[in-house]
Amino acid sequence: MKEPDDALAKDFLDICHKSGLKATSLRLAVYRYLKTSGEHPDVDQVWNAVRRELPTISRESVYRALNDFASHGVIAILDRADVVARYDVEPKKRHDHFQCERCGRFFDFEVKTLPELVDAVAGALGRIEHAEIRVRGICNDCLQKEDDARKSL
Ligand SMILES: [Zn+2]
Ligand SMILES: [Zn+2]
Repeated sequence: MKEPDDALAKDFLDICHKSGLKATSLRLAVYRYLKTSGEHPDVDQVWNAVRRELPTISRESVYRALNDFASHGVIAILDRADVVARYDVEPKKRHDHFQCERCGRFFDFEVKTLPELVDAVAGALGRIEHAEIRVRGICNDCLQKEDDARKSL
């Protein structure tokens, strides 16, 4: 892999160094997409984006890169919407998720007092490794589509 020229690539090399992952062009492309898209994409979204940069890359390799990131704690695998896993590039920054039941997308939000609440209530039961609020509903985009569809009737 050639020397990186931007901050994001430097972050990436740093992460690889700390987690013991080998820095490859594919992993960098995947990381770059996850960081810049602001999405919680599934493997096909990542694959489609990465293929613009690396046209010969297989879906399988992208899938493997995502799993390698996940097993090294660089990203989190959110649990499945239908059967498609989605990936989150900010697993270390505590945040909560709103999941749209229609389009399957995850949106981030943050309940600032959650860690204290969980500590106070669940702390007595054991050491807390992860706390998150998961809200399900219909996102604004999908609500808007529903609205437009109704108006065009
Ligand atoms: Zn939606
Ligand atoms: Zn998230």
